[in-house]
Amino acid sequence: MTKPLFWEDPYLKEAKAKIIKIDGNSVILDSTIFYPRGGGQVGDTGEIAGSRVKDTIKDKESGEVIHILEGNPEWTEGQEVELKLDWDKRYKTMKLHSAAHIVYYIMGAVFGESCKIASSGIVDDRKDRQDYLWEGEFPKEKLEIVTDRANKLIEKNVPIEMKEDNGKRTWIMEPFPPMPCGGTHVKNSGEIGKVKVSKGKKPGKGKIRINIEFA
Ligand SMILES: [Zn+2]
Repeated sequence: MTKPLFWEDPYLKEAKAKIIKIDGNSVILDSTIFYPRGGGQVGDTGEIAGSRVKDTIKDKESGEVIHILEGNPEWTEGQEVELKLDWDKRYKTMKLHSAAHIVYYIMGAVFGESCKIASSGIVDDRKDRQDYLWEGEFPKEKLEIVTDRANKLIEKNVPIEMKEDNGKRTWIMEPFPPMPCGGTHVKNSGEIGKVKVSKGKKPGKGKIRINIEFA
């Protein structure tokens, strides 16, 4: 299996790896800094040996990380290649993903325990979108309180840790209870910067969409 360097150190922007398998424009490496799409986080883009990686996914059956290139490469298996992430995109995604954990707990505190996540959301470098269970009129003015509380906590430079136990990964940040998560996060809440929480377009009956963006 590919060694997941994006978990060992989510701040790695460049690395060297060996090609294990090439199938058309799909490439498997012995280790990678490219996060594969999953857990609501987009797949990384960047370059392998100067060729564009347009997406990174996880094979449903084997669980292997597959780098999808724009064209078919002319490399050979066993060859060593340089990896380079689109770091600005990944770092912004890490920030908004970390903010999403904070906002989740604050949503519960402001709107009550029944305001739970309805389905897996999606986070990229511009926006985190998450659907919550909600019946009836939604008091969206209260999202200003959520924004305010989130920013006050972010400003406090609270450490964020990831714990790994038997392949299960957990997000840890005081004062919240730990949360299972396989994504990539920043090490300190202060890195996130100011965010804005708003209501998105209605995703369907009994639900509301909550967006988090950089303020
Ligand atoms: Zn997470």
